[in-house]
Amino acid sequence: MTTHHVVILGAGAAGTAAARTLVGSDGIATTIIGRTDETPYTRMLIKGVAFGLTAPELIRLPMPHTDFVADSAERVDIEAREVHLASGATITYDSLIVATGSRARSLDVTVAGAGQASRAGKLIALHSLDDAVRIRDAILACAKPARIAIYGAGLTASETASALQADGHQISLIARSKIPGVATFGRSVAERIASDHRARVSTFFGRTISSIHSEPDATVVTLDDATNLTVDFVIIALGTTPLAPAPWDEEVVVDDRLRMLGFDNAYAAGGIAVHHDDYLGTWRIDHWDDAAAQGTHAAQMVLHSVRLGEDPGAYRPRSAYMAMIYGRMISGVGFTGLPDTGIDGADEFIVLHEYGDALVGASGIDAVGAVYQWGQHLHEVYF
Ligand SMILES: Cc1cc2nc3c(=O)[nH]c(=O)nc-3n(C[C@H](O)[C@H](O)[C@H](O)COP(=O)(O)OP(=O)(O)OC[C@H]3O[C@@H](n4cnc5c(N)ncnc54)[C@H](O)[C@@H]3O)c2cc1C
Repeated sequence: MTTHHVVILGAGAAGTAAARTLVGSDGIATTIIGRTDETPYTRMLIKGVAFGLTAPELIRLPMPHTDFVADSAERVDIEAREVHLASGATITYDSLIVATGSRARSLDVTVAGAGQASRAGKLIALHSLDDAVRIRDAILACAKPARIAIYGAGLTASETASALQADGHQISLIARSKIPGVATFGRSVAERIASDHRARVSTFFGRTISSIHSEPDATVVTLDDATNLTVDFVIIALGTTPLAPAPWDEEVVVDDRLRMLGFDNAYAAGGIAVHHDDYLGTWRIDHWDDAAAQGTHAAQMVLHSVRLGEDPGAYRPRSAYMAMIYGRMISGVGFTGLPDTGIDGADEFIVLHEYGDALVGASGIDAVGAVYQWGQHLHEVYF
């Protein structure tokens, strides 16, 4: 029996879940390619490091029992089925799963002073473990309470504002949208989270940052309405954008079975994957459990392609996420990114996300049980 070599790019949620699905299959050899000099870690847990609650070594991501090479993938030669690595080595594959995740969305290039503030350690993204360590150290270097501006008000920014406020710091939360998070949680949940923010921290919603001026003892953030905020440092949490090696560089478009459009024997899963299907249109989810579910699905597709497994069918998002914000548990299942949502009249804290005639997601506040129950019916209930 010839061996089918599956190469997985990225040792995160999607990549390790894919590898775990493949381990033990007769005739399959799997190699995970991770970043040069990086010990794989659980990205969703870096917040604990940033808040000073968790030591970096505690969030290491256990690797499946498979070959692992820490040598960043720089380029994929689709014709030759070769991955070119940063060291100059190449590795050939029969099937490829790209699971390289995302990078932090950065500040607009027009924001004056951003480069200088970043070099001075006063403007820090929250996306990698290195970022988290920088934030932890920046907080430790400040007198308490630290004055911290957070730009963004999605899930990560909201959790960060909530945790740092609870730890006694002075938080200024800046967001472009007047009601941040509508596209993530649905309007009624987003409105309640926005109202909690207003009650606990200084909010500047509907505002953008025009400039950042950092001096040794303070950083001045100027907003587009000329408001000046004097802070110790700024955390950027504006969401993520896909990150892939060449020839893709950015997003990788997949069909409903996670096959890359236009490429044979190649799949993508997790934060890198932009889904394009007849069911939800064009969509992307960047949550841990969904990335892992996509990785599993992509691996099942590989097994099916070599007649070692059943056809897993079309991928439908069903996974859950949770976040504690000011003591309230925000939860969601499935695809909760649709701006126009239906609201369940029985409980105002549950938002049902519908697309066409289908229920595709549910989100809520302090309603984990109900949200999970709705999760049992996703993609099946038709109104
Ligand atoms: C601060 C923060 C908090 C979060 N909190 C939560 C949460 O509470 N709950 C939740 O569900 N989700 C959370 N998330 C989101 C979650 O972490 C991501 O959705 C998930 O990690 C995506 O999985 P992935 O496999 O697509 O990417 P990742 O887990 O990021 O894995 C991608 C891997 O590929 C590697 N890589 C990238 N480029 C290359 C290359 N060229 N060659 C080799 N390797 C490469 C990366 O180093 C990384 O190890 C959070 C994210 C952040 C940033």
